[in-house]
Amino acid sequence: MKNTGENCFEALDEIDEANILQKEEMDYFVAPNKEKLITFSPIALKCITRKTSAQNREKFSKIGSEYNMCFKLIKCDRKLVRTVLFSYGFLQCSNRNPNVNLIWTNTHLQQHVMRALKPWQRINHFPRSHCITKKDSLYINIARAKAMFNLPFNFIPDFFITPEDIERVREALKRIESNPQHSPLIVKPAGSSSGRGIIIMNMAEKAKDIDLNTKMLVSSYIANPLLLNGLKFDLRIYVCVTSFYPLIVYIYREGLTRFATQKYDISAENLDEAHKHLTNYSLNKISEKFVKNMDPTEENVGHKWSLSALLRELEQRNIDTKLLMVRIEDIVIKTLLSAQHKIVPVCRSAMLNPRCCFELFGFDILIDDQLKPWLLEVNLSPSLGCDAPLDSILKTRLLCDVLNIASIPLVRENNILNTCAPTIEQESQPTDNGKENADIPSSFPIEALSTTYVNGNSDALSSTSSGYASGGGASSSSSDRFTSSGRINSARKNRLNSRVTKVKKATIFARPSFFYERQNSQYKSRIKFYANKMNTEIERKGAFIRIFPRTTTWSLYSGLMEDIGPEEWDKAIYEELYGSTPYYSARDIENAHEQLINASQYPSQENLSNIVREIFSEALSEADKYREKMPPITVKPFPVALPRVRSPARRRTQSCMESDELRRIRIEEERKAQEIHTVINPSADQNYSNCGLLGKKEDILSQTNLNEIVNF
Ligand code: ADP
Repeated sequence: MKNTGENCFEALDEIDEANILQKEEMDYFVAPNKEKLITFSPIALKCITRKTSAQNREKFSKIGSEYNMCFKLIKCDRKLVRTVLFSYGFLQCSNRNPNVNLIWTNTHLQQHVMRALKPWQRINHFPRSHCITKKDSLYINIARAKAMFNLPFNFIPDFFITPEDIERVREALKRIESNPQHSPLIVKPAGSSSGRGIIIMNMAEKAKDIDLNTKMLVSSYIANPLLLNGLKFDLRIYVCVTSFYPLIVYIYREGLTRFATQKYDISAENLDEAHKHLTNYSLNKISEKFVKNMDPTEENVGHKWSLSALLRELEQRNIDTKLLMVRIEDIVIKTLLSAQHKIVPVCRSAMLNPRCCFELFGFDILIDDQLKPWLLEVNLSPSLGCDAPLDSILKTRLLCDVLNIASIPLVRENNILNTCAPTIEQESQPTDNGKENADIPSSFPIEALSTTYVNGNSDALSSTSSGYASGGGASSSSSDRFTSSGRINSARKNRLNSRVTKVKKATIFARPSFFYERQNSQYKSRIKFYANKMNTEIERKGAFIRIFPRTTTWSLYSGLMEDIGPEEWDKAIYEELYGSTPYYSARDIENAHEQLINASQYPSQENLSNIVREIFSEALSEADKYREKMPPITVKPFPVALPRVRSPARRRTQSCMESDELRRIRIEEERKAQEIHTVINPSADQNYSNCGLLGKKEDILSQTNLNEIVNF
């Protein structure tokens, strides 16, 4: 079965266990005519519990186990990710094992680790994508783009970054104090999340509450949010990027609407009321007014709705939701463009294989009462926690579609590598009790140097690089590791150095710009590669909508792109996909951006000029999909709640179990230490209430992440 865009949100209630058998017979998981790619579906979660009948137990899990598919989680404990992967028979490895098919991490890995990734491996981040997800860098990037391109980037509130701008913050507060018409300021720690440490302030004397030791984002507070039943809300939009250069972006058709739990009130004495002003789910769910929606068939009940339910509701109030969604798409594209110049050079220097990285971002959008969407922040690893049926239904489908779009090949390469001779790293450093690292390759993974890899074969580009690395070499990661005693002997050091030199040479010759200049014929094959990649993704996109590239995106956005390299991949891919660019004058394009950004003057499609409507015609017609309701799900126990994985299906390596055990002990100790601290120093508890709208008490509870313990 092909996972086309049309059958997205397939009705799970129509699929019973007998049907699963049928699907498998149709070679369910194999992408036809291409290399074998694993296709994930939420149905597999029905076969993972103890209650699954014996005949269906292995239906999905045998896929991964047959190919020895492996994954590792780094600095995250994603119950949903593990459940889906265990359902497909993946083996969880310790986070030190390099030979896994999928790395799911909450942090960014070092460049040498990224460089060593092979074409069959996937990782859920691009290097340096934190320049989008850290609040201060995000705002700085967009402000930079605004300084260059002006109006089109007018979708974040005015802001300051402290401590550098503290004087300007004080002056702004004085102005606000003297003129009550001014919006207050909202102060957020640059690196935090979930509403932690946020303060809304409107008086000069409050400036002293700003912690000058922490980077803070101080921005203008959007005081006129669109309200529903008197409640403020914001949107979580799921965005998947599979390449930054050329830019390839998808938005998930379904998202979430998170409501504050108390009626919005902007009067000065109410600014401290978190449940009126902040829409974070983690914060509002502890409010006594919070209503949880436990009905899997309802999407517009309680304080968390689906995106489509909100759009249907707004539609009834005569709001042009199609144009609203096109505006949100525009914000997403421009945000990513503003960071392209930061991310692309790192991808180049890390020589990333263009197939390896994908990233799911969570865009937080606030709509004001003029129907203008504002970007609040972008989340690095949007929550995949499922504590209500709506979450499990949506996020299971989302995760399956993300993994599908990442196109994970079913390969046995890692099995072959398992038999390789040990590397210097292994000779010199007993790691993972010598169990897992038996499969570290003895030579530098040559595939990592190839910048192109189509249908399982490195193409022309990689053949050049192989000339410089075929002599074998250590994995680049081995160059900075030492023996267990902390030293390496000189003979080994020399061998290591010579391998590193070879790797460096290979690095220079594998640079895309080198290829472009010297081997122009290969330029075309790389364009073909990207076109193939996009075609594969389109077949597997499920409920994602590709928003970039589209038929008019080159005309619309090329003027906002920075000069990143001589290859001009964005233009080349656009021409490969769509042929020539439709002609629009500079004035038309300027009008298009102006009318899109200026929501108060152009609230609905009828207000747009004809030519602007034409430019956005494809986006507007696809925007219909955001309003579609997910098919109801009636089958129990999945996915109303995440299933409990039966223990034989929780396949983990010995070293993974050991490192998990160590982590569990560490977390337990930290928790106990925290309890003792609170008992000895009860005033600490008192102080928390002075640390913003949400005190640090909640901080500590969530940092301790009790889930981590519970989920083992
Ligand atoms: P965090 O990462 O801590 O969740 P956010 O930037 O998402 O921080 O802000 C938390 C909440 O505060 C948002 O969900 C929104 O309701 C509110 N908020 C944030 N910035 C603004 C703003 N400039 N104007 C109005 N409300 C805001």
